[in-house]
Amino acid sequence: MFKKNNNDYKKKTNNSSGNHNKGSYQGHHARKNFGQNFLRDQQVIANIINLIAPGDQETVVEIGPGLGALTEPVCEIIKHLNVIEIDRDLAYRLRHHPFIRDQLTIYEQDALTMDFSKLKEEDKNLKIYGNLPYNISTPLLFHLFEYSDVIADMTFMLQKEVVDRLVAGPDSGDYGKLTIMAQYFAKIVPCLEVPPEAFTPSPKVYSAVVKVIPHKSKPYVARDYDLLEQIVSSAFNQRRKTIHNSLENFFTDQIFNELDIDPKMRAENLSIEQYVNLANYLAEHRE
Ligand code: SAM
Repeated sequence: MFKKNNNDYKKKTNNSSGNHNKGSYQGHHARKNFGQNFLRDQQVIANIINLIAPGDQETVVEIGPGLGALTEPVCEIIKHLNVIEIDRDLAYRLRHHPFIRDQLTIYEQDALTMDFSKLKEEDKNLKIYGNLPYNISTPLLFHLFEYSDVIADMTFMLQKEVVDRLVAGPDSGDYGKLTIMAQYFAKIVPCLEVPPEAFTPSPKVYSAVVKVIPHKSKPYVARDYDLLEQIVSSAFNQRRKTIHNSLENFFTDQIFNELDIDPKMRAENLSIEQYVNLANYLAEHRE
C-alpha cells in the first residue's frame, strides 16, 4: 500500500509561484526529451532519502541527478556517490558544484549503456536510486534486471502507472510482461505516492516511489531466461487470445495439460511459476 503525500505543497516547496511549468528552474531550461521533471517538494525529498537510506558501507549510484535535489542530501550522509547523467549542461553543473563536486564520480552518459557490474566494489553492496526519466523507465528497468545479481537494492521514482504494473498480480489488466520480468528478478515494494505538484515542470500524471529488491535466490529459476522472455512476449502480444492460440508455435494442448495449465486461459491468467515451467519444459525438450 502507498503512503500518500498530499499535503499543502506550496508551503513546502522553494518556488511558490504556483506555475511550475514555464521558463527555467534554477537557471536550467528543462529538456522534455530527457524526461526532466525536477523534484522541488522538500518533504517528498526527505521521505525518499529515508527510503534510500544510503550508507558509507555501500557503493551508491544515482541515475539522473539533474539539479541535485536528491544528490545534495545524499552527499550530506555519505562521503562518495556515483552519478550517471546524460545532459551535458547538468553534468557540467555537477562537476562545478560548490559543495559536493569532490564527493562525486560523474558518468556523463546514457544509463541504458552503463555496465553496472563495473560499479560494484568487492565487499560492498551496490545500491541504486533515482527519480527516473519517465520516457526510458521501462527499458532502463529491463537493463537493470540484467545486473540483478550484483545489485542489493534500488529505490526509484516512476510513473504511478508503471508502479501499478510492477506490483500487479494475475487476472488484472496491469499484469503483463513488465510485471512478470520484474517479479521474476525482484521483490517490489510500493512506498509512496507523489502528486504532479511535487515537481517542476509538473508531469501530467501521478508518480510513485518503489523499492526494487533483487531476490538473493529466485523463487523460480528459468534455465534459459531468453526463452522465458520470448514466451511471455508472445503471450502478451496477443493478450486477448487464449494461450492455445497465442503460444501455438511453442506448445500443444497436450503439453499444456502435462504441465497442468489450462490452454483456454489468457496471458494474464498464468502465474510467474507457470511461465517459468513452460520455459523450462521447452529448454529441457530442446536439449
Ligand atoms: N534527480 C533529479 C530530481 O529528482 O530533481 C532529476 C530527475 S529528472 C526526472 C531525470 C534526470 O535523468 C534528468 O536529470 C535527466 O537529464 C536525466 N536523464 C534522462 N535520460 C537519461 C539517460 N538515458 N541516462 C542518464 N540520465 C538521464
